[in-house]
Amino acid sequence: MNMLTDRYGRSIRYLRVSLTDRCDFRCVYCMSEKMRFTHRSKLLDFDELERIIRIMAGLGVRKVRLTGGEPLLRRGLTDFCHRLTQIEGITERVLTTNGSHLAFLADDLVRAGIQRINISLDSLQPERFRQISRFGNLDDVLEGIEAACRAGFERIKLNTVILRGVNEDEVLSLLDFALEKKFDISFIEEMPLGEVGRNRPSEYYSSDWIEALIRSHYRCSQPQTGSATDGPSRLLTLDAAPDIRVGLISPHSHNFCAQCNRVRLTAEGRLLLCLGHEDSLDLRALLRAGSSDEEIESALLAQMDLKPERHQFAPDESVSIVRFMNMTGG
Ligand code: SAM
Ligand code: SF4
Repeated sequence: MNMLTDRYGRSIRYLRVSLTDRCDFRCVYCMSEKMRFTHRSKLLDFDELERIIRIMAGLGVRKVRLTGGEPLLRRGLTDFCHRLTQIEGITERVLTTNGSHLAFLADDLVRAGIQRINISLDSLQPERFRQISRFGNLDDVLEGIEAACRAGFERIKLNTVILRGVNEDEVLSLLDFALEKKFDISFIEEMPLGEVGRNRPSEYYSSDWIEALIRSHYRCSQPQTGSATDGPSRLLTLDAAPDIRVGLISPHSHNFCAQCNRVRLTAEGRLLLCLGHEDSLDLRALLRAGSSDEEIESALLAQMDLKPERHQFAPDESVSIVRFMNMTGG
């Protein structure tokens, strides 16, 4: 079987799919206040998405994450999730959401075959939550989290971006919240994607400081690199909660590219090989030009030679890549 393997011997097993670049939030690290979104006609439709995923499954991809933008805003989402269960080879179907619509959709997502879910949560303080997300309502997200707990996902993880002087003082309360709910949690360093209108370096908060803070309150084992499924996280295990995975995602302070097994599909159908590079394959153009499965497969295999060894984000840069995270399929 032909496999998607790059020049550095990394096999691509994991595809992150941005279903839309739209969102009901405008998180300060992800978007600028005024955003222009892609016109509907330019988004891949569900038939096109299914075809790409099927072809990539034939080339060794096993895990699909639905993301965005806010994937729960895409109409027809749960039917599409169900279609994913029919694709041979795709054994892991997971999703990342801001949680604002989860209260209505959590049960349907589980029924449609989504196994695990990541929910973004940067603050437990309503005012601050609103400030960071610009439009978000913490109560809606907390209701969504409760619904997700009841719905029966195999695992729930919180994603938390920590910014200096903004929410650094909530590391321990967010960790305690995760422990109480029996969720995993990842603390993420902000990445310099898109001109969001802030001076990012001044709000840079290293995951080394987060680790030191957690260690000063909890006895922990040495951080370990996660399994292929965990991806870029370094994992801390707390003696008090050995089953909970506390991840540190450190694009700046600990480069994680050596184990990279993923590529990303933007909502308009560009396949990105690396978060930190613009090289991409225009799959929408190939699909809409009537290419055969074999032609698309060949283009994908050829593209693997362009996957860079690593990203080069620098903590002193506000913007390294002009593409915003909501375009990227974060
Ligand atoms: N809207 C959904 C959400 O917020 O979970 C899914 C898409 S969002 C782009 C996926 C993840 O990317 C979120 O956990 C968010 O915190 C993270 N993210 C967005 N912009 C980021 C940035 N500049 N640096 C690091 N993480 C970022
Ligand atoms: Fe929306 Fe997610 Fe970006 Fe926040 S991080 S603006 S919720 S896409």
